[in-house]
Amino acid sequence: MKVILLKQGIHEDKMDGNKVVGCTEICGAIILLKSETPEEENIIVDTGNLGYADEIVEKLKENGLAPDEIKYVLFTHRHQDHSSNDYLFKNAVRVGGPWFWNTDKSLDNNGLKAVPGVEIIETPGHVSEHRAVVVKGDKTYVIAGDAIHPKYILDGNYEGMPPNQDYIDSAKKIFAQNPDAIIPGHGPIVEGEKLEELRKAVENMTVEVK
Ligand SMILES: [Zn+2]
Ligand SMILES: [Zn+2]
Repeated sequence: MKVILLKQGIHEDKMDGNKVVGCTEICGAIILLKSETPEEENIIVDTGNLGYADEIVEKLKENGLAPDEIKYVLFTHRHQDHSSNDYLFKNAVRVGGPWFWNTDKSLDNNGLKAVPGVEIIETPGHVSEHRAVVVKGDKTYVIAGDAIHPKYILDGNYEGMPPNQDYIDSAKKIFAQNPDAIIPGHGPIVEGEKLEELRKAVENMTVEVK
């Protein structure tokens, strides 16, 4: 299974001087898990925000695939910035939890175990139904969605959304997978020294607002 970041998640703040007053552009990361053996399937994790459909189709094409060749679409959670281009993938089975588009009743345990080549773990906190996707190969990747916001955690500035205990426990759960890389919903892939820095920051996270 090849892990390909089709689109890095973005979150551009709208500033008024030094103050964040909103956001100008937001799109969750879109990840392609490309099949490399006959047993594997092509999987998309999260489908981004409105306005990115053409870009997704173009990026898939660069990787030799058409939307119809995607067998599964997984959702970390159903916020608009992560789930708006679902309609592109007409042949895919949706796996996003018991609340959402999971119309294939053959998927056991609400889809947590049924997708070949990946492990789906529950990571509540950002929203209670949040999931992260673990892909183990030469490297272990965790596709973390909004269960980990590296910028907020490293800066200790949550822009008015301080972490709750579930969020902290989920971030620790992600590190317990011993990832070589974390793909967050917003911002660049975290690996190497940055990953160690983030690991330490997660260990020190607290629900107390400074
Ligand atoms: Zn998001
Ligand atoms: Zn979200």
